[in-house]
Amino acid sequence: MSVLAIVSLKNGQPTKGGLEAASYAAAFAKAQGQDAVALVAGAMTSDGGLGATGIDRVLHFSTELSDSSQWTRLAEAASKECGASTVVLSHDHTGRAIGPRLAVRLQAGMVSGVTELPRDGAVRKNVFSGKAMADVEVSTNAVVYSVTPNAFGVREGGSEAEASPFAAEVGEAREHVTGFDLASADGQTPLPEADLVVSAGRGLKGPENWGIVEDLANALGATTACSRPVSDIGWRPHHEHVGQTGITIRPNLYIAAGISGAIQHLAGVNQSKVIVVINTDPEAPFFKAADYGIVGDAFEVLPKLTAAVKALDA
Ligand SMILES: Cc1cc2nc3c(=O)[nH]c(=O)nc-3n(C[C@H](O)[C@H](O)[C@H](O)COP(=O)(O)OP(=O)(O)OC[C@H]3O[C@@H](n4cnc5c(N)ncnc54)[C@H](O)[C@@H]3O)c2cc1C
Repeated sequence: MSVLAIVSLKNGQPTKGGLEAASYAAAFAKAQGQDAVALVAGAMTSDGGLGATGIDRVLHFSTELSDSSQWTRLAEAASKECGASTVVLSHDHTGRAIGPRLAVRLQAGMVSGVTELPRDGAVRKNVFSGKAMADVEVSTNAVVYSVTPNAFGVREGGSEAEASPFAAEVGEAREHVTGFDLASADGQTPLPEADLVVSAGRGLKGPENWGIVEDLANALGATTACSRPVSDIGWRPHHEHVGQTGITIRPNLYIAAGISGAIQHLAGVNQSKVIVVINTDPEAPFFKAADYGIVGDAFEVLPKLTAAVKALDA
């Protein structure tokens, strides 16, 4: 028996969501005393770093696939080949397209958007846009889990996995992706995948002041984010809203300027490795969650940080 992770590739490397699915599958397999197997499609060198997440074996289908029905057939063939009763994917656009179809083909129960490993026979997921959590029990033998991006994280410490070619009949493609348009401006890394994030809240007073946030983000090569009220009132686009009802992120560095640190905001950012908070109010709740806190005016501190980063690069 084994646990199978479906892993998407981008530029020949597993996506962050794919590595998270692999980490989840490996941790679950270990707890069950099973093998962890990953399935990839497309060009990839050696094990693509999947062994480090705890994956034992990689099944490598050589052709890149964008059609979800082809992906579904491939995943079905792979799960049968390795005797997997549990299949794990990322709850990203690919996983959302494949997961339900695969569950039907495997006659499996499906839990979408899980955030933790199953415990006492139930698995936890966010519901009502993150306003509540549900513990779901699955009564079928086979199960498909899609993992909420940035909830479980990427695990490291495993050794290289054995990669072997995998062939299957996937049929004709019915969908053809003709191009991608990035939702984020200036080619920024999308928020769920970003390692560096500069974020701001109502303390910035108005959309006309966002230049100082973008300047720091550009200097660092970071992605911009914002608190919910800022996107609700239209100062920033909705895809920048992080928190309980927005995007959950897990960057290496999260800089938050003029954000109070309400619990609903923290729910989406508190897994960041290093949190830097800039706020004029020394009592702002965000300071309790910060690794570094600057009690100061964002309009003075942000330009100084930008100048310091540029000086480092010079
Ligand atoms: C069901 C529910 C879900 C929610 N989901 C989310 C969510 O997903 N994400 C989210 O962000 N919020 C969410 N909220 C809203 C949340 O409760 C807070 O209201 C919100 O996060 C506050 O945004 P803010 O910190 O930008 O604004 P404020 O609370 O107004 O805080 C502004 C901060 O800026 C500081 N400040 C002012 N001027 C300056 C300056 N010049 N320099 C530096 N600091 C300054 C102030 O001291 C203050 O701490 C949710 C609320 C509910 C009820």
